[in-house]
Amino acid sequence: PVGLLDGKLIDLSENVVPMEDRGHQFGDGVYEVTRVYNGHCFALKLHVDRLYRSLRELSIPAVYTYEELAEFHDLLIKESGIADGAIYLQITRGIYPRAHGFPENVVPRLTMSIRPVSAAPDKNKLEGTKGLLIPDERWLRCDIKSLNLLGNVMGKQKAKDAGCFEGIQVRDGFVTEGTSSNFFVIKDGVAWTHPKSNLILTGVTRTLIMEKIAPELGLIVVEKKFDEAFAKAAEETFISGTNSEIVPIVALNGQPVGNGGVGPITRKIQDAYWALIDEECAR
Ligand code: PLP
Repeated sequence: PVGLLDGKLIDLSENVVPMEDRGHQFGDGVYEVTRVYNGHCFALKLHVDRLYRSLRELSIPAVYTYEELAEFHDLLIKESGIADGAIYLQITRGIYPRAHGFPENVVPRLTMSIRPVSAAPDKNKLEGTKGLLIPDERWLRCDIKSLNLLGNVMGKQKAKDAGCFEGIQVRDGFVTEGTSSNFFVIKDGVAWTHPKSNLILTGVTRTLIMEKIAPELGLIVVEKKFDEAFAKAAEETFISGTNSEIVPIVALNGQPVGNGGVGPITRKIQDAYWALIDEECAR
């Protein structure tokens, strides 16, 4: 499998993580995951914009331009021959003898890899799947796409252990987001999702729904907090994310949402999302 280290091709079977990489030791770094459809990166600009924001929030210098990063993504696609997949990119603060404070004069370290992902919609997407409401036990800077994912990992496992696809997190009584997705509910034909804040990641898929898909469908989206009871009583609920795309959540904590099937608005959003991909990636 091919990967890139600081933009140069490497074999991923090589040891690429030095002991004193701060990403390795402190989770001191950020990442992005971008989908590749038909040999093209989808929504790369939005991912790179968010990457720059994450870096800025952590005072990690951005040492690659958008053009360079786009070139690296294309190189991975070309070298791997993977036309439908996911590209993982991570930037750590760099390598330095272990000490908590930011070191001076270190160069951030960029690593990237690609793996195949089927472009065909799976059963979850077509028929919907189950969600489990769980306590949000993460830190208070969920807006940064940082390497610190233990809260997310533990939440996902809790959902898996309960036979559910995603854990839908609840903090101080309000539903925030999934462990690797944003969460939407439909109530009276209007979509609700948690406001942009330090408590959620501003998903690229969420942004596309709000800025492109909803206006096109004439769907109103409100960024407002809502509680567990509101989510359970919703007509439809779904999650959004780069990897999962749009996945209907047709049961919450074992209880059907709405009539227990994929709702019409969720289906329209899903179809519109796939149409966006077709348009941008010329599928
Ligand atoms: N929220 C969390 C916690 C995530 O990890 C992710 C993506 O992995 C998302 C939301 C969705 O973001 P995006 O649509 O940019 O993939």
